[in-house]
Amino acid sequence: MNRAEMLDRALARGEPWDMVIVGGGATGVGVAVDAAARGYDVLLLEQCDFGKGTSSRSTKLVHGGVRYLEQGNISLVMEALKERGLLRQNAPHLVSDLGFVVPNYEWWEAPFYGVGLKVYNLLAGRYGFGVSQMLSREETLERLPTIKTEGLRGGVVYYDGQFDDARLLINLVATAAEQGAALLNYAPVTAVTRDAEGFVDGVVARDLESGRELRAEAKVVINAGGPFCDAVRRLAQPDATPLIAPSQGIHLVFDGSFLPAGNAIMVPHTSDGRVMFAIPWHGHTVVGTTDTPIEQATLEPRPFEEEIEFVLETAGRYLRKPISRADVRSVFVGIRPLVRSGEARNTSALSRDHTIHIDASGLLTVTGGKWTTYRNMAEDCVNQASTLARLPEKPCPTRNLNIHGFHRQAEKFGPLSVYGSDALLIQDLIRAEPALGAPLHPALPCCGAEVVWAARFEMARTVEDVLARRTRALFLNARAAIAMAPRVAELLGRELGRDQAWRDAQIAAFHEVAMGYLITPAAPPRRGPAPPPALA
Ligand SMILES: Cc1cc2nc3c(=O)[nH]c(=O)nc-3n(C[C@H](O)[C@H](O)[C@H](O)COP(=O)(O)OP(=O)(O)OC[C@H]3O[C@@H](n4cnc5c(N)ncnc54)[C@H](O)[C@@H]3O)c2cc1C
Repeated sequence: MNRAEMLDRALARGEPWDMVIVGGGATGVGVAVDAAARGYDVLLLEQCDFGKGTSSRSTKLVHGGVRYLEQGNISLVMEALKERGLLRQNAPHLVSDLGFVVPNYEWWEAPFYGVGLKVYNLLAGRYGFGVSQMLSREETLERLPTIKTEGLRGGVVYYDGQFDDARLLINLVATAAEQGAALLNYAPVTAVTRDAEGFVDGVVARDLESGRELRAEAKVVINAGGPFCDAVRRLAQPDATPLIAPSQGIHLVFDGSFLPAGNAIMVPHTSDGRVMFAIPWHGHTVVGTTDTPIEQATLEPRPFEEEIEFVLETAGRYLRKPISRADVRSVFVGIRPLVRSGEARNTSALSRDHTIHIDASGLLTVTGGKWTTYRNMAEDCVNQASTLARLPEKPCPTRNLNIHGFHRQAEKFGPLSVYGSDALLIQDLIRAEPALGAPLHPALPCCGAEVVWAARFEMARTVEDVLARRTRALFLNARAAIAMAPRVAELLGRELGRDQAWRDAQIAAFHEVAMGYLITPAAPPRRGPAPPPALA
């Protein structure tokens, strides 16, 4: 992954690409991997950094979706369970088994959830993770030592996958590049071009670093703009009827002491009848999420005060250890690109299936779905895109395609385990310059070598790229990330050849973004009635 080379390839191309993809989230990068692995010529353009949108802001679950089972959407659950198994097979360094405990306080909960979760196991078939089982009160407390004990009867444990979303995305970008795709971050698509018959035949983008305009002809243009995909559609057709009903979900991040035994809590029915998780992640505890309809997608969505209170209140109902706003290390918000439905009254009722929509102009939009099913979405999308563009048919090889970093025993790399096989090369950087091995902050294990690695081999261009998506510092502990910014700016500036003014501007820009991940210790007074949050 080298941005200068990618840009040169994009500028030098004298003939149409087979496919140009707009959007560098899980959907777009998944399509780039699939199309390039089939042998098509592919260019992907991302307006910010890879994963700046929803794909770095998920609950970090590779899952079939227990909730969809309850809704009776068996085919969606089966598809997701199969994809969960394929992802663990192809990226074992990034996907791990996690035990989820459903604590039981009522007599009927053990048989009810026990049977439901057995069905979940059965649906996974040969792609199964651990087998669910009933737990006694003592076994439940062993797995969840901080849970409320009053009235606790026992629990049910089931297994699902967990991952680091932004890291998987960066590894997918590397995989697509290895398969021959050109992928460019900081290159917003500003217009689409049309041929004499009015069909979309390319895009116009801007390289934000040089300010240069980039024109790319394409046999088919694929819009993978996630929650922004309607804005991309309007570039081709200004009066396009919106496809997306955006809905935001927040997560609060605490230190690891809230889940000390490494198991997650699954709350199957919150006070408004939804599902909520508390999961251990990178030594911290992530609690969420909500499902609140919003008017418009933005790149740095902010949590609503009511969402913060709702998550805290729900967590407080289950945890013996007191939990408050002062414990929050970071809050992050993602926007679901849910596909609109005429009948649905709230966004949580909207389908999590993916949709492929072809506008009259020939612009193909792929959206909806989940991170877990990105591979299957990509396969479906490339099948349809190649037919639309009359490209020669080529089989999809991604079911058995190892993802960059593939390593079966990555745990042995400790804090560098998420890098998989790349961890060895990062260790080489530390051997060559031992100062790069020092942690950048006592609260987090990130070190300087990760910054150098991100700049040289992962197309990190800003302090935010490093602290939010190449490492996960901002998502884990926003104050620590702010404190790390000057050293990151220094190392990144050194690697990219930037002066002190650039470094100072980077620190200031990061500070501004990071402030949105902090919450005030006291809740601000409410102004007027607030919409009730609905939990996903
Ligand atoms: C709160 C929450 C929790 C979730 N949890 C899970 C989970 O645990 N497991 C799971 O499987 N799924 C989960 N999901 C779903 C999953 O995260 C999304 O389905 C997935 O990330 C969507 O990816 P995407 O690529 O479609 O969108 P995005 O990641 O938003 O990518 C779209 C990209 O397009 C770019 N773009 C837009 N316009 C342009 C333009 N004009 N030019 C160039 N680029 C452009 C944007 O900058 C953006 O990076 C969750 C979603 C939310 C909101």
